[in-house]
Amino acid sequence: MARISERDITGGMTSAPGDDPRRHTFTPDAGSLSRAGDVFQLLRDGRARTRAELALTTGLARSTVASRIDALISLGLVGPAGEAMSSGGRPPSRFAFNPAARVVLAIDVGATHVILAVTDLGGRILAERRLAQEVADGPEAVLGTVISAGRDLLEDAGRELGDLAGIGIGLPGPVEHDTGRPVKPPIMPGWDGFDVVTYVQRSMPVPVLVDNDVNIMALGERTSSWAEHDNLLFVKVATGIGAGIISRGELQRGANGTAGDLGHVRVPRGDDVLCRCGNYGCLEALASGPAVARQLQAQGLDVSSGPDVLRLAGEGNLQAIQGLRQAGRDVGDVLATVVNLLNPSMIVIGGSVGEVGEYLVAGIREVVYRRSLPLATTHLRIGLSVAGNRAAILGASQMVTQHILSAAVIEATVAGVAKAG
Ligand SMILES: [Zn+2]
Repeated sequence: MARISERDITGGMTSAPGDDPRRHTFTPDAGSLSRAGDVFQLLRDGRARTRAELALTTGLARSTVASRIDALISLGLVGPAGEAMSSGGRPPSRFAFNPAARVVLAIDVGATHVILAVTDLGGRILAERRLAQEVADGPEAVLGTVISAGRDLLEDAGRELGDLAGIGIGLPGPVEHDTGRPVKPPIMPGWDGFDVVTYVQRSMPVPVLVDNDVNIMALGERTSSWAEHDNLLFVKVATGIGAGIISRGELQRGANGTAGDLGHVRVPRGDDVLCRCGNYGCLEALASGPAVARQLQAQGLDVSSGPDVLRLAGEGNLQAIQGLRQAGRDVGDVLATVVNLLNPSMIVIGGSVGEVGEYLVAGIREVVYRRSLPLATTHLRIGLSVAGNRAAILGASQMVTQHILSAAVIEATVAGVAKAG
């Protein structure tokens, strides 16, 4: 990600008050500097280890491990974690990842709300706030709210701007991830091509990463609840329908960031239903919250939105239940093909309709298990989102830490600090 300069990261890392790594002295050789990031990756699991254990695991010399640990301690990312059992003599010190070293500002911009959270580097939520905000008010209004509320939230969490390691933002539309710019987002007037990263960095000069909300929900859901599933599909069913694809543990964005856009795949029974995109028979025109509401309205029910449908279904209204179940079958029609193509082991259904969607999920299961190849469904689980409306902020935090704690960025940061010192 070319837009994040080493200076940004180093500047961020070194600006914590009272924790200036340049005050620490270490004189590691160039070889050990270039690999401090690798030692750090071992420690990210949170388990405390001694220098000897790290030397054994990495095959590096004890002295090399020691200099890398010193570099990581100077950044605050690793701290002492007690002592190991001694086999005689002074007991050896143990070291562990210190997720409290820095914080991340995680932001979920929805159509009519913004959710903000301050998390530690392990994704633990330290403070959280939900605000009413129309995305249609435009980028300056929305990002202005985000910046001022973000400052307040840092204060609530007892942290300072200097503790901020990065900002992750999810937007409700297509985003070119490499530049952080929205691309012709249908419900976001004024946002097309807007330079979100530069705008936010003017007030908060740290790495800023932007993606569409479904991708970060997939990341958040997997990290928080389904870490054992390397091949996971997250399907958001709300006003729109989309999917985030995790394959072999990595989020797949495709060539232009539009991978997973299921909403405009054609469904057989929808030949005469016009979609807002101009085509007929799109999944979204049949199975989204507003689409089901329209169908029930045509049957004479007093509903005008997705939440109305969910409320009715919750009260046991048979037409609403049937409407959601049919929407599930339509989603399942498309997912059966996706399952054959991608062979996920877990499909998570989320979004405002999906979250309370046992009827929707029943319809999805019905079609996917009947229509996908037997081998592809032998170990396939289909379930409801566990993270719920926190999936996006958890994912926004994860998107940032995946980047700033990667071996390459840690190494660049260590090298930058050494050069500055
Ligand atoms: Zn469409």
